[in-house]
Amino acid sequence: MKDVSKLQAILGTKCPRCRTGEIFKFPFSKLSRFTETRDNCLVCGLKYEVEPGFFFGAMYISYAFTVAIMIAAFVAVFVLGNDPPLWVYLVTIITANLLSVPLMFRYARVLMLHWFSGVRYDPGAAR
Ligand SMILES: [Zn+2]
Repeated sequence: MKDVSKLQAILGTKCPRCRTGEIFKFPFSKLSRFTETRDNCLVCGLKYEVEPGFFFGAMYISYAFTVAIMIAAFVAVFVLGNDPPLWVYLVTIITANLLSVPLMFRYARVLMLHWFSGVRYDPGAAR
C-alpha cells in the first residue's frame, strides 16, 4: 500500500494512525452536519476522542484560525479597498469568519488529532 504523507492525511481529514479512515461522518459538502465526528476509525478502529474532553483543545486551534482569518481579511480589505470606512472592515471580517466556521471546526479537530493525540502513524494499521 502506498504511504500517505502527514500533510495529505491532514488535508484529507484522515485518521492519524492509518491515514486512510475518514474522521468525519459526512463529506464537507453536507454543511448541515459538518460537526459530526466518528467515534472510531472505520479502517483501524482508533478511538478518536483519545481521552474525555480531548476535543476541547481544538477550541484553541480554532481561536488561532479565527485570529489568522481576521488579520488576513483586514489586510485584504486595507489593500484591495484602499482603506475603506470601518463598516467595510467589520462586514468583511465577520462574513469571512462565518463562512470559514465549518472549515475551522474540522481542521481544528484534525490538527488536534494529528499533533496532540500522541497517536503515531502505523501503515500496518490499515487492514
Ligand atoms: Zn485509522
